[in-house]
This record gives sequence, structure tokens and C-alpha cells, in this order.
Amino acid sequence: MKILSGDQIRKADSRTLVEQNLTGVALMERAGIVLYKWFNDYLKHTTATIHIFCGTGNNGGDGLVVARLLSFENYNVTVHIVPTSKPTPDFKTNLERLTEAVLYPDHYDKNAALPEISPQDIVIDAIFGSGLNRQPDAGVVRLFQHINNTGATVIAIDIPSGLYLDRKPEREEDVLCAAIVLSLQFPKLVFFLPELQRYLEKFVVLDIGLSKKYSQEVVTVFSYTDADDIQKRLKTFGPYSHKGTFGHVLTIGGSYGKIGSMILASTAALKTGCGLVTAFVPECGYEILQVAIPEVMVVTDKNKNFITAIQYELQPDAVVIGMGMGQNSKTQQALHEFLKSYEKALVIDADGLNIISENKTWLSLLPSKTILTPHPKELERLIGKWKDDFDKIDKTVAFSKKYDIVVLIKGAYSMVVYDGKVHINSTGNPALSTGGSGDVLSGMIASLRAQSYDATDALIIAVYLHGLTADLALADMSYHSFVASDSINYLGRAYQKIGE
Ligand code: ADP
Ligand code: ADP
Ligand code: MG
Repeated sequence: MKILSGDQIRKADSRTLVEQNLTGVALMERAGIVLYKWFNDYLKHTTATIHIFCGTGNNGGDGLVVARLLSFENYNVTVHIVPTSKPTPDFKTNLERLTEAVLYPDHYDKNAALPEISPQDIVIDAIFGSGLNRQPDAGVVRLFQHINNTGATVIAIDIPSGLYLDRKPEREEDVLCAAIVLSLQFPKLVFFLPELQRYLEKFVVLDIGLSKKYSQEVVTVFSYTDADDIQKRLKTFGPYSHKGTFGHVLTIGGSYGKIGSMILASTAALKTGCGLVTAFVPECGYEILQVAIPEVMVVTDKNKNFITAIQYELQPDAVVIGMGMGQNSKTQQALHEFLKSYEKALVIDADGLNIISENKTWLSLLPSKTILTPHPKELERLIGKWKDDFDKIDKTVAFSKKYDIVVLIKGAYSMVVYDGKVHINSTGNPALSTGGSGDVLSGMIASLRAQSYDATDALIIAVYLHGLTADLALADMSYHSFVASDSINYLGRAYQKIGE
């Protein structure tokens, strides 16, 4: 699903009017009907008071249509007009239609008494839409704070009022927080940024029938990976496939007390479908791995001092390095030698990243399309501090371009960054915030690389599947009890869910 910029959203609207020969007010009515249907399903003929706050622009116009349609269904609707800008023509038309329907709004201004709202009430926020481009004035902010303090359920139309599409709000109190956002046609980037999470709990995307042609042809920086996107990226393997077809993964890492990370990564690689896995661990890990996973071959550093020798002997299709590896000087040197000679599919995680952060000139040794999977702290070590989430994305995009590598920004909504594009993952939940879940993910990514997926596809699919394992597990258990190896146990079901 594409995520459009402000200009692109306006273009989508105007293209729709031309292609479908509609007036603005007709499109507003259509959006209003879609919103009204969602509200009618959600509200289930509640007798609670529904406060609809409408700005005087087009977001307010949408709110007025919803108010009129809900009042026809005998909901207990109170409309408050909040002057935000010079009233738009379509807003005015809908204000007339509202009064024709015998629904008379009150008019809020900064000197007026604040409306009485109880915690059981529903608030519909149609004050500012996605076109907000300046800080809301003091009178409006006073209203936002009042509503934020009532404890009523707030449902925002299109975007929480006070949020911009492309930068963070000046102050925390400038935003009306929403329990649910009903996003028209496209999700917005700000729904996915950790710093802005406090402003909304969840969002729903509603199809209001904007131009399909435009949606198909518009080129966006950001997209939100849904089940359809994953379907398109999946390969099918024929009946004559053999273990060679599915590729050979070499996992490299582990250290005394952290062999478990290699068990997780190596098992996850196998369960994601590669044909063979060899694990390279220090000698102390040999028996542990052999006992833990019979399907995995194990080599150690006993007679071979350099990972380099191993990779020439084994000829793996993909290598993943760094999980639980430690950063001692021998390890650092081995990684350096390895990077100087290795040219194929590569995933670097954890201590592999930390070592490179201390030796940034090695970045230029990375094979094209190497995948780096830092958590936020590891990312900071690689690219330096960022000002805010927008800056973090800009810096990561520049970093990935500079070295021609693919970078995963891990988080609740993990982001795959490559070639100026950012793919935002849609699966997963806090069950994954548990030690080792990144190790599992690394093994999965390497497995897909060995199965000859290109780097972006491998990363996008692996992150999606990884999140899905945690989503499926929550049907059976509390997220408190979920551990990283549960992801591995649910991989088969996750594959079933995406249709193999
Ligand atoms: P490890 O990768 O084994 O967890 P690191 O030393 O690389 O160890 O990182 C640990 C540090 O990173 C801790 O201070 C932890 O709080 C921080 N950290 C981990 N995840 C996040 C996150 N999502 N956001 C911010 N800091 C994080
Ligand atoms: P570790 O090093 O302990 O294996 P990482 O921090 O490297 O763990 O990776 C944690 C993984 O869990 C990442 O893929 C991250 O996106 C995912 N994750 C963490 N918290 C959440 C969350 N709240 N929602 C969804 N995914 C999460
Ligand atoms: Mg990790």
C-alpha cells in the first residue's frame, strides 16, 4: 500500500474529480458515506452523546456529512464548529445541508465556555486534516487539551488534528490525541513513527474510491507492506526442487555464554526454507549446537583460524554474521579479512554491526546489497545521533545510498530502506520485544537470500513473516510468555497464512 506525500494526496483528489467527473462536494459526500458506515458499525446505535468537532476546511466538511447522516439514524449528535480557516465552498455547502436537516451546530471560539464532555461520550475529530501546515492557534490548542483531559473516546477523521504529514508537532499539547484514526484511502507516514505513537492508538484505512489509475502510477518514497505486497514478492518452487535449489546458509557468530543466539538464527534459517545450514562457532559451541539442532552442520575455529577459509570451502549462498559473536580483537580481525574477500549475499547483525561501527572504513568493503539489521541503538552507532524520527529516516536513506546497502530500522513498525525507498512493515507486536528475536530474524533473512530472493524482497518478506509469527501466537498465548523461539515454532503457520 503506497503512502503519499501531501502534494500527491491533493493530486489524487483532483485526478479523481476529473476522471470520475465529480464535483468536490460529491466526493465529500462519498467520503462521508464511507465514514458514516464505519461509524454506524462501530457505534451500534449507542445512546451516548457524539460530539463532532468540525474545522472550517474540507476535513470539517467531511465531519458535517457524517453528522448529518448519523443524525438521520437518530444518534445523539452535537456539532461544534471550530473556526480554523476561511470556510471552503464545500464546507459551506455542507453547513447549509446540516441546517436543512434541522441540526444546528454551536460555534466554538477562544472566549467561549468549553463544551461539556463526559468520559462516556464519543468525540469525532474533524478539525484539521492532512493539510495542516502551521501551528494551531492558542484557542484551538485550549480545546484540544480540554478534550484530551475528558477521557472520552476520540476518533479522528484522516489524521489526528495537529499532526503534520512531514514533520513533528512543535509542542506535545498541540495535538488532539485519537484512539482510532480513520485514514482516507492511504495510510500516513506519521502513524508509524515511534516519537508520534503517543498521539494515536490505532488506524483504519478506508477506501473512498479515489482514482485507481493515479494510485497505480504514483511513485512514492514510502509504502506500507500488506499481504498483497508479500504475495507479489513470493516465489514458487517446483516439484523437482532439491536441497541445492533452496540454498546453503552459513551462520557465523556465538561466543561463550551466547551460543543460544546461533541456535536461534540457525534453526530459524532452516525453518524459513533453505536447504542446508552450516554454523561457524567457537569451539565451546560445538557440542551445544550439535545436540540442539541435528539438521545443522557445525564447524569451529579449532583448526581454522579464519572465517575466510570456511567460506571458500563451503561456498554458501548466503552468510549471516554477528549474532552473539562478541567483539574481541581476533574476531574483529577475522571479520575484516572476511569482508575483504566475500562478495555474495550477506546479512550483518548485532556484534558484526558493532565492530563495523568502530571501524567505519570497512563499510566500503561491504558487497553491494548487504543487509544490515540494527536495533535503534546499533543504528545510532552506525549513523550517529538523529534529531527526530524524520531525520533518522533521512540519515538512514543517505547511509544506505552511500554504501549501496539495505538497512532495516527495527521497531514496532520496522522499516526496510534501500535505493531511496522505505517499506514499512505491518505485522508484529510487543511480544517480539524479547531477547533473541533479532537473532531469529537474521536467520530468516539469510535463508531467503540463499533461496535467491534479492536483498529487498528477502528483508521485506522475512520481517513480515517474523511479525506474523508473533501475531499468530497471540491467538494461543499471552504476549508475556512469548519467547524468541516461539517465532520459530509459528513459522510454518505464518507461511500458511501468506499462502506459501
Ligand atoms: P544488545 O544488542 O545485546 O541488546 P547493545 O549493547 O547493542 O546490546 O544494546 C543495548 C542497549 O541498547 C541498551 O542500552 C538498550 O536499552 C538499547 N536499546 C535496545 N533496543 C532499543 C530500542 N528499541 N530503543 C532504544 N534503545 C534500545
Ligand atoms: P535481539 O538482539 O535481542 O535478538 P533485536 O533488538 O535485535 O533483538 O530485535 C528485536 C526484534 O523484535 C526486531 O525485529 C524488532 O522489530 C522486533 N520488535 C521489538 N519490539 C517490537 C514491538 N513492540 N512490535 C513489533 N516488533 C517489535
Ligand atoms: Mg539484535
